Amino acid sequence: MKIISIEKNAIYKFAWLMLFASVILTFPADVHAAKINIVATTSIIGDVVRNVTGNAVDLVVLVGPNGDAHEYEPTPAASVDLAKAGVIFENGLGLEHWLDKLYSASGSSARRVVLSKGVPLRVFKDNPQDIDPHVWQNVANVIIFTKNIREAMERVDPVHKDLYEANAYRYIQQLQGLDAWVRKQVAAIPADKRKLVTNHDALGYFAQAYGFQVIGTVIPSATTEAADPSAKETARLLNVVRAQGVHAVFSENIASSKLARALSKEAGVVVAPDLYTDALGPAGSAGETYIKMICYNVELLKKYLK
Ligand SMILES: [Zn+2]
Repeated sequence: MKIISIEKNAIYKFAWLMLFASVILTFPADVHAAKINIVATTSIIGDVVRNVTGNAVDLVVLVGPNGDAHEYEPTPAASVDLAKAGVIFENGLGLEHWLDKLYSASGSSARRVVLSKGVPLRVFKDNPQDIDPHVWQNVANVIIFTKNIREAMERVDPVHKDLYEANAYRYIQQLQGLDAWVRKQVAAIPADKRKLVTNHDALGYFAQAYGFQVIGTVIPSATTEAADPSAKETARLLNVVRAQGVHAVFSENIASSKLARALSKEAGVVVAPDLYTDALGPAGSAGETYIKMICYNVELLKKYLK
């Protein structure tokens, strides 16, 4: 009888050992499977985040390709995305004026990371009381975005610290190369031709960084939300366009080019194809990544400002 009881004991011990081993073996697998949920407010921010995180996170972009962050209307799905998120990457400076309300309504406890932190800011020329939120149009500022993303990700997900560091380092090198390339291309445009008339006032940081002058915008406002320009405002812009000898007006991917077309007809100037301003283009387009969008914009400016 004693032999049987020893066997029983051994069976119990074995069963416990197996249970323990299965817990040890499966637990780390579960930890690896659970990726952190990240929300990026715009497609441009989403691209920069993806370059730093690779596939180590689950990423949702709220305002997608060709979307207008100024006029975005949050959806119920966006509220769910915020509630699930561990981190929200936002531009700040009033671009996402709808985010505070959406954040509190969603019950989210995500860490909010404002990517424009540390960026040298400018105010709008025509609205000097307002800070211009379009900081990503200067490549140097997106290098600051990248550093801010890396720092935040290393804090919330230290397991992948080495990955984030290596990815950010590589992407910053690409951005430095892009910045140098832009300067070289711009040097080929005669200085007196570097005058921009854009749809809304989105290229202030670009102009400041790369030696252009924004001489007017079709929509006389910092955002695309403003009402159509008055006859007086349009007449004033027409005068400026004529006086400055501008040959082209630039439309943009996030808004209708109707106004630009009307202006160009009156002023006898060309409407250039859309610049990528506040959003990337869809996958497969010339503006599907931030780096591609800047290259495309610069090529377009070169072509139409000669
Ligand atoms: Zn804008």
